Amino acid sequence: MSAVEVVPVIDPWASAQRQFDIAADRLDLDPALRAVLREAERELIVSVPVRMDDGSVKVFTGYRVQHNLGRGPSKGGIRYHQDVTLNEVRALAMWMTWKCAVVGIPFGGGKGGVRVDPKRLSMRELEGLTRRFTTEISVLIGPEKDIPAPDVNTNAQTMAWMMDTYSMHVGYTVPGVVTGKPISLGGSEGRHEATGRGGVVTIVEAARHLGFPIEGATVAIQGFGNAGAIAAYLLEDLGARIVAVSDSVGGIRQADGLDIKSVRAWKAEHGTVVGFPGAEPVSNEALLELEVDILAPAALESQITSANAERVRPRVLAELANGPTTPDADVILARNGVLVIPDILCNAGGVTVSYFEWVQDLNRDQWSEAIVNAKLSEIMVRSFGEVLKMSLQENVDMRLAAYLLAVDRVASATALRGIYP
Ligand code: NAD
Repeated sequence: MSAVEVVPVIDPWASAQRQFDIAADRLDLDPALRAVLREAERELIVSVPVRMDDGSVKVFTGYRVQHNLGRGPSKGGIRYHQDVTLNEVRALAMWMTWKCAVVGIPFGGGKGGVRVDPKRLSMRELEGLTRRFTTEISVLIGPEKDIPAPDVNTNAQTMAWMMDTYSMHVGYTVPGVVTGKPISLGGSEGRHEATGRGGVVTIVEAARHLGFPIEGATVAIQGFGNAGAIAAYLLEDLGARIVAVSDSVGGIRQADGLDIKSVRAWKAEHGTVVGFPGAEPVSNEALLELEVDILAPAALESQITSANAERVRPRVLAELANGPTTPDADVILARNGVLVIPDILCNAGGVTVSYFEWVQDLNRDQWSEAIVNAKLSEIMVRSFGEVLKMSLQENVDMRLAAYLLAVDRVASATALRGIYP
C-alpha cells in the first residue's frame, strides 16, 4: 500500500448542496421547494475570444449563473482564476442567495467567472477579455436583472470596463449595472473596504459573545487581497496582533505581530507578502493550524477539510472567503468548540454595501462614508445577533443557524410567488 495520503478533490457545488440539504432536512422543507432551491435557475456558458498583444487569438471560457431570483435581481461577483469551473460558479451563486437573505437585502444570488490566469494578461488584453465577456453575458445582466461586482482577481477597474461596455450597448450610462465601481463612476464610499469591515464587525461580536477582548488577540489571515488585507488593518487598528498572513505565493509569520501597513506596501511593490523583512515563512497549510484566537480564511474554497480540521483550533473561525470549510470539516470544528462565523454572514458586508451602491445609483444619490459604515455596521450587528440567537435556540452551529434563517426566507418568498405557470 502506498504511504501517500490521497486527498479527495472537493467539489464546491457538492459542498453547497450538502449544506443546503442539512438545512432543508432540519426545516422539513416541502419537497417541491427543496427541488427548486437545490438547483440554479439559469446557467450561461460563453466562449470569450481575446486578441492577444502578439496578434494571436485566445479563447477563454466564462460563466454566469443565477441561482435564485425569488427575492429580487440576482447579485454576485465576477471571478478571474485559472481554476474556475461551472460547479464553482454554481456554488458561489447559491451561497449569494443565502447571503442576501441572511442580511435581509432584496437580491437573489448570482455569480460569474472566467477561467483565466489574469496575471498572464496585459492590461489591454484584460480589458479586451472583460469587454467581450460582458458582451457575452449581456443577455442576462442589467440593473433590474442581475448586477455583477468584483471578486477574486477583479476590481474597480474591471467594473468600470463592464459598466462602460454595457452602457455602450444600450446607448446611455447605466451605473447600476455593476457595483464596486470607482467612486467617480457612481461607486459607493466604503464599498472597497466593505467585506473586510463587515467581517470585522462580526468578529468583534463573536469575541464579545465568547468573552475575550480583541485588543491583544492573535490573528492569522489566509489571503491578503481585498477581503483579507482590509480585515487585517482594521483588526490591527482595534489592537489585535496579526501574527500571520499569506497569499497565493506563500505566507509570513511574526509572533509579536506584523506591521500591516508595511506588509501592504511590500505586497504592492513585490506582488506578494513573501520575503517581508523580519518575518519567518509559513505555508498556507501551516498558517491554518497556527495557535491563534482568530483565524480568517480569505482566499478560496475548501481550505479546511476533514484532512486538517482536527488541527484547526482558533477560538473564532471567521470565513471572509466563500466556502472555505467543507461540511465534513464543520462537524469536527463544532466538536472542538470552534465558533465559526459562516461565510454567508461573515463576508456579507460586501454585498450589503453593493446594495447601498445600487440604491444610490438608481436614485442618483451619494452617501457619505460615515453613513455607509454606520448602516453596514447596523446590518452586520443585527444579522450576527439573529444568527447567534437561532444557534442558541436550536442548539445548532452558526452555519446551520444562518442557513435555517436564510433558506426559510427564500423558501417563503418562493412559496408566496408560487411555481409558475
Ligand atoms: P482578491 O483577488 O482581492 O484576493 C485574493 C487573495 O487570495 C490574494 O491575496 C491571493 O494571492 C490569495 N490567494 C489566492 N489563491 C490562494 C491560495 N491558494 N492560498 C492562499 N492565498 C491565495 O479577492 P477577494 O475579493 O479578497 O476575495 C477573497 C475571498 O473573499 C473569495 O472567497 C471571495 O469570494 C470572498 N469575498 C469577496 C468579496 C469582495 O467584496 N471582494 C465579498 C465577499 C466574499
